[in-house]
Amino acid sequence: MTKEEALKTYFGYDAFRGGQEAVIDALLSGRDALAIMPTGAGKSICYQIPALLLPGITLVISPLVSLMRDQVTALVQMGIPAAFLNSSLTFRQYLLALDRARAGRYKIIYAAPERLETEGFRAFAETADISLIAVDEAHCISQWGQDFRPSYLNIPAFAASLPRRPVVGAFTATATPEVKEDIERLLALRDPLRAATGFNRENLFFEVRQPADKKAALLELVKGRPGKCGIVYCSTRKAVEEVCQFLRDRGIPAARYHAGLEAEERRQSQEDFLYDRAAVMVATNAFGMGIDKSDVRYVVHYNMPKDMESYYQEAGRAGRDGLPSTCVLLYSGQDVRTNEYLITHAEAREGIDEAAAERLRERDLQRLRQMTGFCRTRHCLRQHILRYFGQDAPDYCGTCYNCLHNFKEVEVGREAQAIVRCIAETGQHFGAGVIAETLCGADTDRVRKYHMEREASYGALRELTQKAVRDRIRFLLDEGILTLSPGQYPVLLLGERAEDIAQNGPALYMRTAEEERPAAAGRRQIPAELEGGQAELFGRLRALRAQIARRQGVPAYVVFSDRTLREMAAVQPRTTAELRAVSGVGDAKAGRYGKAFLQEIEDFCGQ
Ligand code: ADP
Ligand code: ZN
Repeated sequence: MTKEEALKTYFGYDAFRGGQEAVIDALLSGRDALAIMPTGAGKSICYQIPALLLPGITLVISPLVSLMRDQVTALVQMGIPAAFLNSSLTFRQYLLALDRARAGRYKIIYAAPERLETEGFRAFAETADISLIAVDEAHCISQWGQDFRPSYLNIPAFAASLPRRPVVGAFTATATPEVKEDIERLLALRDPLRAATGFNRENLFFEVRQPADKKAALLELVKGRPGKCGIVYCSTRKAVEEVCQFLRDRGIPAARYHAGLEAEERRQSQEDFLYDRAAVMVATNAFGMGIDKSDVRYVVHYNMPKDMESYYQEAGRAGRDGLPSTCVLLYSGQDVRTNEYLITHAEAREGIDEAAAERLRERDLQRLRQMTGFCRTRHCLRQHILRYFGQDAPDYCGTCYNCLHNFKEVEVGREAQAIVRCIAETGQHFGAGVIAETLCGADTDRVRKYHMEREASYGALRELTQKAVRDRIRFLLDEGILTLSPGQYPVLLLGERAEDIAQNGPALYMRTAEEERPAAAGRRQIPAELEGGQAELFGRLRALRAQIARRQGVPAYVVFSDRTLREMAAVQPRTTAELRAVSGVGDAKAGRYGKAFLQEIEDFCGQ
């Protein structure tokens, strides 16, 4: 079988994506490889196809025990004999799986790195014919990466201890030079092929918003996508709790996930999400590595992440099936300050001296500045991302918010001066609402109660709406010119530069709203939703898929992805051959589900 045949037969795809072939060819020819690909680009096929074509077994080292089951289920559905060896098996199940592995029943075996150190596994490995070791999430080997996992360091010794050293393929989405070097050196890769696919994910729409009320903005985003599956990333456990409860109180089926929850609840949440019982997952960055649910339609960042690597990895969990999906980051100046605090107060990692710790901190602050730059740019967001990852890109993509909208910059120096003076005058005792009312010269209960009409700045910004004044206050908060007191009723306080603003009123530029650009401006349209009969058929195919998935106890997307069903609804195949031409329908699935889906299509079309 050739690699193209394997792609069609098992996965049902017609062509390789950029970068996949080179990696597959290298591994098949016995050469190590280091593949750097963004989340969703299709890393797994790069080792799964060699696994099918090479003799013997491929061992996949993956950091997340909790997801191996789903990965293996997906492979088995495609007719690829696979198994996982991890702590979720009982001892008997484990021994049974090892027996079968010894008997050559599996082509692919998933294991956590810790497993390599156990005696039973070593004994197995010495007699087994392991031809390829695929190291998933390979950045876990590096201290410089985000998820350092010390047992990854044992992988090269393990590989070398085998009777014949297998080919080693390393896979990651992290592109920083330190991490790349670490992977090559620490994994002891031998003259590896270095492959990096383009970092562009065409089907993702990017947007950064700076809403006055994040919860309201989030609710609007979620409600605007009923029944669609989304992830909401928050930076703290507390925020996860709050946001999840907020959504649930509004009748939205949300699950939560963070490292502070019991293992059982985490497992349950993850399953609810994978099996479409909870449409929205609210989580910290602890959630998602290895999640390959392909129909995540949107990712919202409720807080700005600490660096672009984290951002793009998390945002990239949207739209793995290639269908249009949305990534929205809800930015606030507070996010910057929170991150700064976390970086400067981080506990030093063990075994790192003070000089190195300082260097790490500096680097983290630099990355944070780059992340903030992304949030504040008025230029193409996609270009900004790609340039960050070292790839050139045109300055207009047509599928990000900034490309589709104009921003105005307004000079707000004099207004800032009035705001700062008003706060100073009234003793730093009030929140944004009262200050805005005062500056606008409003006649409200609060204004009367505190006698604000006697202040010199009463009505100083009469020409602005209260909303416009609040926007300017928010801008000053973001700039650090103002700060908020902690507590339930935060009041506005003067920050470092406030004195200068009050005295001198220097020019300040605030980015503000957004007029839609004329559609003629070369906007590339993302294919719209299915319409009419096709949409109806799509619904019926989804229902059929849900029924089959439930019967088999597997997540729905493992049966067929949304993308595949969508194509079926559009093309409406009538024969097995036509069905096989649909992307995502391989031999095993055509054999197993073909009849049911063809029947459904025929029933529908014959109506
Ligand atoms: P990664 O691990 O890089 O984040 P995956 O390996 O999970 O990405 O692949 C993402 C999605 O793209 C999966 O649904 C996979 O089946 C699909 N995919 C991978 N390669 C191809 C291809 N050549 N053609 C079509 N779809 C593909
Ligand atoms: Zn753009």
